[in-house]
Amino acid sequence: MQRDQQIFDLIGQELERQRHGIELIASENFTSLQVMQAMGHVMTNKYAEGYPGRRYYAGCEIVDQSEQLAIDRAKQIFGAAYVNVQPHSGAQANAAVMLAILQPGDKILGLDLSMGGHLTHGSSVNYSGKLYQPHFYGVNKETGLVEYDKMEEIANREKPKLIVCGASAYSRDWDYKRIREIADQVGAFVLADIAHPAGLIAKGLLNSPFAHCHFVTTTTHKTLRGPRGGMIMMGADFENPFGLKTPKGETRLMSSLIDTAVFPGIQGGPLEHVIAAKAVSFFEILSDDYTVYANQILKNAQSMAKSFVGKGYEIISGGTDNHLMLIDLRNKNISGKKAEQTLVKADITVNKNMVPFDDKSAFVTSGIRIGVPAITTRGMNESHMGQIVDWIDALLMDADNEGLILKVRGEVNTFMQQFSLYPEL
Ligand code: PLP
Repeated sequence: MQRDQQIFDLIGQELERQRHGIELIASENFTSLQVMQAMGHVMTNKYAEGYPGRRYYAGCEIVDQSEQLAIDRAKQIFGAAYVNVQPHSGAQANAAVMLAILQPGDKILGLDLSMGGHLTHGSSVNYSGKLYQPHFYGVNKETGLVEYDKMEEIANREKPKLIVCGASAYSRDWDYKRIREIADQVGAFVLADIAHPAGLIAKGLLNSPFAHCHFVTTTTHKTLRGPRGGMIMMGADFENPFGLKTPKGETRLMSSLIDTAVFPGIQGGPLEHVIAAKAVSFFEILSDDYTVYANQILKNAQSMAKSFVGKGYEIISGGTDNHLMLIDLRNKNISGKKAEQTLVKADITVNKNMVPFDDKSAFVTSGIRIGVPAITTRGMNESHMGQIVDWIDALLMDADNEGLILKVRGEVNTFMQQFSLYPEL
């Protein structure tokens, strides 16, 4: 077979782009080489519908073992009682939970997308807002913090069947105990979507949702630093204490309802090569190196937030408890879109993001979201954060100065040479 040089050239170019630039997209990271190797191999050839020990295909003895390893390691990391590692993505993990416990038209209550929530928490352009009836809570205009009192008020008024907590652009920790208390008042389930801070929760650096939330979903590729993918977990509620029934009227273990919702509910064959890579990343998370990494994420995020505040930038909620920060650029007279476009020209990647109570559209936005998981993986520490903020500030304050952009880009590229990325490739 002839080699597809076109695509391999593009992969090479992407490697160089990743090496030269400062990656500040909060949802991105760099997996280890062994995680990538575990993703590209013969397990991609295997059909394995079903679950370890109960498949619809022959020849699954080996992939049964690797999938079981992924499950067991994830249970150990989070202290979870049940884990499903098959969701192809975070969106599919959320879809499966909703399919398992909701009927079309049921009410759900999530964090508003424009306040930091995720599309799959009820947005009108997503299945979650089309199939179910979405209601939203938000953050306080002054403090930028989630308004639990309002959540309680809306929950009592609307009686949702599901409350979703978790976010894509919220820099503070969550009060899972309070959310469960609110849910219990109205008989709602709680889904904690920890896609963003999962790696910090894994190491006990943020509150754990497991004691309080019925379901926990995550992606595996953000702070967890694994392959792109999703995962569903449960704590004690896996036994189905609420007696939820299947469409046929049977009461089954909650975990079994979730398994059925993933396959055959919303997916066919699992990606066993990606599941092998998930297992490898979980192996890494169980190591002391990852503990050091997770702690460094917090130090870097706090140091960077302090530098931004020192230069007069407004961080929503005034700072961060986790790996990211959302910056309101309105006092700097530049839109999120212009900021993103300017920074990327200097090989600094961030993403534009709506801020709470934004007066600009989702295409323009008033803010940028910045995260440190990827640069922390590259080996940066607190001593590097001030320099990055200096570059960003200089560019945003003089965004049409092409000479400055070129100069900073040169400096960024030289700076990044000290942080090697995949030297073996
Ligand atoms: N949930 C949250 C909170 C997210 O931030 C994201 C992705 O950004 C997802 C779910 C969806 O993950 P995926 O892109 O893997 O579908």
